[in-house]
Amino acid sequence: MYESLFNRQKQFYQSGKTKKLSFRIEALKQLKRSIQYYESDLLDAMKKDFNKGKAEAYLTEIGYVYNEINYSIKHIEEWAETRKVKTPVTHIGSTSKIYKEPYGVTLIIAPWNYPFNLTVAPLIGAVSAGNTAILKPSEHTPTVAGVISSIVALAFPEKYVASVEGGIDTNQDLLNLPFNYIFYTGSSQVGRIVMESAARHLTPVTLELGGKSPAIVTKNADIKLAAKRIVWGKFINAGQTCVAPDFVYVDSSVRKQLIHHMKHYTEKFYAEAFITGAYMNIVNENHFERLKELIQGNVVYGGKTRPATLTIEPTIIDNVDFSHDAMQEEVFGPILPVLQFDSLEKAILDVRDLPDPLALYVFTDKKSEAKTVIQSVPFGGGAVNDTVFHLVNPHLPFGGRGNSGMGKYHGKYSFDTFTHEKSILHQTTCVDFPFRYPNKLFGKFIKYL
Ligand code: NAD
Repeated sequence: MYESLFNRQKQFYQSGKTKKLSFRIEALKQLKRSIQYYESDLLDAMKKDFNKGKAEAYLTEIGYVYNEINYSIKHIEEWAETRKVKTPVTHIGSTSKIYKEPYGVTLIIAPWNYPFNLTVAPLIGAVSAGNTAILKPSEHTPTVAGVISSIVALAFPEKYVASVEGGIDTNQDLLNLPFNYIFYTGSSQVGRIVMESAARHLTPVTLELGGKSPAIVTKNADIKLAAKRIVWGKFINAGQTCVAPDFVYVDSSVRKQLIHHMKHYTEKFYAEAFITGAYMNIVNENHFERLKELIQGNVVYGGKTRPATLTIEPTIIDNVDFSHDAMQEEVFGPILPVLQFDSLEKAILDVRDLPDPLALYVFTDKKSEAKTVIQSVPFGGGAVNDTVFHLVNPHLPFGGRGNSGMGKYHGKYSFDTFTHEKSILHQTTCVDFPFRYPNKLFGKFIKYL
């Protein structure tokens, strides 16, 4: 069904236009202008799709995308430069270079939780690197998907960048095509389907998936600050953030203190928004029903639900253990289970037993403790004494490992993700040393390799 679009993009890519640096820079500028033109529609769409407030939408979606565009425009020439590398003495007379080459026609499949950011941020990488792209925004935020299509249509011809709206069937149709690169963000479950489809064409993939990201709080942490930063990172976007702290694992000696401060800051940051109806919705009824079932046990804050608006109050559950329903899969909503440990060594072993999470946060003022946790547990990335904020540093690669994905992006890493590094040896024709050719010196030459 999308074969004709794919072929038009392929043809356009092969024309060589997208490879010109001036063309790429103009494309990024055009993208920015188009977003600016549709900015208020975008903000309205986020409000409509899941009651996302303007300030939060700007902070977590639009502002971030502008920064990435500006950063790419500033650095693209340096990133795209052919790089000269060393050449060993065995290749005397020659030079070695790495040429930066776009992959070609790329596919970007996005989820609903940051529906604009997670569709357009990878696009910035694809365009910066000189590719064409087909975007597939999430069907669960249809109004935002519509505005993304308008932004793309205003900025680019379809043969260069196109946005395709639709659900699972659309994805399946797209995944049948021989893309040169697929960038997928979403659940680990669908990540497997994407990778299987990509394997049919040996298409390289980046998979940005999810997982149960722990916030480990030791007895050496600044407990008040830990509480404040954990509840902010957890309850922003109604907990529907891939790097939200999924659960808290706290030293038993400071648990009560942490709970006390988490309740205080949750009340301070989110109570009014929940009461007035300004707090964000859960994206759809299925997720709302799934999350409601997880509110069980010792609820020490929140717990209220409003089916009419699909809203769930920021909720903290104390005394949870690993058998609790909220610990069986990624929560992905405003429900925060709190577990306690007696020794950090045991906590590390427990966390290591879970599938590799996308993020991990460790709260401690003892550097050796932070280092031990970072070095003992496999996870995508994270922070010491903070949550979520690592995500917006363009100098840090963002991505998971194992169950939470593969590959990375943001800043230069986005450019690199959508770029093939083509290695070329430039050989001299002035001399032609005989060593490598079959002759009586060959045996001696081999010894030096
Ligand atoms: P999802 O996997 O359900 O959907 C993502 C995309 O896949 C959508 O466009 C959807 O249409 C498509 N899709 C769904 N089922 C499909 C199928 N059977 N075949 C082909 N395509 C299909 O994910 P979601 O619910 O939109 O997002 C939530 C998940 O995404 C969470 O696990 C979260 O942690 C993860 N996530 C990860 C990141 C990250 O950057 N690593 C960011 C946001 C969300």
